[in-house]
Amino acid sequence: MEESARCPECNGKGWVDLRCTKPESADVCQLCNGTGVLGEKTCTGCHGTGRIEVRTVDQMKCWKCEGTGLYPVPEEP
Ligand SMILES: [Zn+2]
Ligand SMILES: [Zn+2]
Repeated sequence: MEESARCPECNGKGWVDLRCTKPESADVCQLCNGTGVLGEKTCTGCHGTGRIEVRTVDQMKCWKCEGTGLYPVPEEP
């Protein structure tokens, strides 16, 4: 029988952050059109990055460990 260890997907937290952190999957900022500047100021929408994060839900129960933080998921006796 396999022993449960810390879930690699969520690092044992039991939930995953859905906030988009990958630059390639972030949306181009609508305010500055991806330039990062508004006039001569840093764009307030994206803080100069030119991209905004795509966020739908802050946290989601980890699909891998079903929120237990352990993988494989320990079976109920
Ligand atoms: Zn911007
Ligand atoms: Zn997990």
